[in-house]
Amino acid sequence: MVESDDFVLPGTEVGFSEEVMPGDGTYEDDGKIFASITGTVSLDSKERKVTVTPKTSAPPELKNGEIVVGVVWDIRPQVAMIDIVKIKGNERTLPGKISGGLHISKIKDSYVSEISSEIGYGDIVLAKITNANRKPIDLSIVDKELGIIKSYCERCSEPLELKDGKVTCNDCKRTPHKKLSSEYGKGQV
Ligand SMILES: [Zn+2]
Repeated sequence: MVESDDFVLPGTEVGFSEEVMPGDGTYEDDGKIFASITGTVSLDSKERKVTVTPKTSAPPELKNGEIVVGVVWDIRPQVAMIDIVKIKGNERTLPGKISGGLHISKIKDSYVSEISSEIGYGDIVLAKITNANRKPIDLSIVDKELGIIKSYCERCSEPLELKDGKVTCNDCKRTPHKKLSSEYGKGQV
């Protein structure tokens, strides 16, 4: 039998009507009480009542200043489009696909003439949210720890390895210029 704080799905048996009263979030059927919603059980032994409280599984909220991990999927003249995958250090998944936009002025603290000279398609970036209320969400990779954390060779699709501050393709020996994060290749996100 379930206990208080157990997580239940609709249809889970949560009690017998001989023993407890069906409260909010439950229904009675043929002497048994079932959860009618997804949530957590609470058994009130004094009132002899069982209720199910809706699970407040609020997805992680994206806030200004938060560091996120994203994948570059489009490069336009003034902005790179980034799929935000997760919040750094938070394992919970985000609700669906969240788009971020990285403006050309938010790549380095110096002038960038072309976005593609600093980042490329498929690059995985660590970025800071500068305005979470915009769609797409405004991102920045100016800070030292921000920027590309994983990148693949455009020609061979090999993961690029960091050597002497530059990323190198072990296959074709290309060393494309990238706005790298100081976390490049460390794999800890
Ligand atoms: Zn290559």
